[in-house]
Amino acid sequence: MKCLKYAAFFLASGLLATTATAQNVTDSQQVAHITNEVLLHGTAYQNLEYLCKKIGHRLSGTGAEARTRTWAIQAFKEAGADTVWLQPVMVPKWTRGKESLKIRKGKELITIPMLSLGNSEGTKGKNMEAEIVCFETMEALKNAPEAMLKGKIAFLNYPFPAHFPCTFDGYSEVGGNRYNGPAIASRKGAVAFVIRSLSTGVGTYDLPHTGVMSYGDAPYKIPAIAIGNAAADSICKWVKQNAVRAVLNSSCGMQEDVLSYNIVAELKGTSGHYITVGGHYDSWDVGEGAHDDGAGCVQSIEVIRCFKQLNIKPKNTIRAVLFANEENGAKGGRAYADSALSKQEVHVLAVESDAGGFSPRGFSLEMSASEVQIVKSWKEVLLPLGLYDFAREGGGVDIDPLRKKLKTPLAGLMPDTQRYFDVHHCEKDVFEAVNKRELHLGAASMAAFIYLADKYFN
Ligand SMILES: [Zn+2]
Repeated sequence: MKCLKYAAFFLASGLLATTATAQNVTDSQQVAHITNEVLLHGTAYQNLEYLCKKIGHRLSGTGAEARTRTWAIQAFKEAGADTVWLQPVMVPKWTRGKESLKIRKGKELITIPMLSLGNSEGTKGKNMEAEIVCFETMEALKNAPEAMLKGKIAFLNYPFPAHFPCTFDGYSEVGGNRYNGPAIASRKGAVAFVIRSLSTGVGTYDLPHTGVMSYGDAPYKIPAIAIGNAAADSICKWVKQNAVRAVLNSSCGMQEDVLSYNIVAELKGTSGHYITVGGHYDSWDVGEGAHDDGAGCVQSIEVIRCFKQLNIKPKNTIRAVLFANEENGAKGGRAYADSALSKQEVHVLAVESDAGGFSPRGFSLEMSASEVQIVKSWKEVLLPLGLYDFAREGGGVDIDPLRKKLKTPLAGLMPDTQRYFDVHHCEKDVFEAVNKRELHLGAASMAAFIYLADKYFN
């Protein structure tokens, strides 16, 4: 009896193994076709070169942002999309203008490389001079008495947490400092807020990195700026020795909201349901927005091209979306989800690439436990692309509203993260910082993931 039971068990598991292998061979073969197609004939890299070198950085509401739409429509058509259309969305418009930070050291004025934080107001082009007060942590700033900060410049010198193997964990820990710091300083009467950049740059790597901030309910919209790591260390050292005064001048500021658009391209399916794949096409106004997020845009275009070339007929309509305004408002993602909700669209999955065009390692997942299990069952099929990490949670800023409003399962391409915050939001985020094979492997990973989701997600 016992023996029979075991025999039945082995028979059953043998059968399962055979079925799984047969299926894996099919899926594995298709993933191999996708990989070959992208690595041998992919156009993501040349698209990225055009976007970076002919258009450049693309802040919301600028002419470059508008030129990106003209280019993207053409690129999607060349990729073989069935339809391409623009989805209107109002976006904030912020302009940088001239800006400078100088430290008064004796009779000397030392110029410090700086960048205003996105959405910050400036000094209306006038010099503002005040003493700097240094804080080593956000807690210290929060606990500081008003008398300590009144009429002074609050300087938060908290370094990027280096102990996390995944740099996004470090970024998550300090992102709130940049976003909320200016309002906290303003409430205590500070006249400006300076932050050490959220950057993994080391040594004399002295570049400031910008990024979005918010005034919340702060009483005054004080100027908020970032400086590089080395400058931050020097200033803090000087402040410990003597009172240090700084002269800040900036003509940054918010303008009226303007009309922009999400760029949407479709490869039609038969189910009437959708799978979204995307990145955001706006960028900060320094560098070329190559990793952040030109990479995600050209990879999404590549998914369409690859499906078309391999004659993959998806069950669900594959929608590649280049989202507007992720950096200083996230309005594009919200408008897309609002539209999906109002049209009662069914979204089977949304995938975003917005973590850099580096070697793919896996996908972060924001979905039910049973959906996570489905993804994990593809592990072996996806391993040849170097994809093994499906343990992280999260989707992406642009697709998160789909989860909130439509409960759409989300996935985010997770590349190697070691170099991302060296270039993120600074002038080093240029085409030359992107490797062709790494970018294309990421595109192939997205196409393979979507191929499998189209087949196994409902
Ligand atoms: Zn981004």
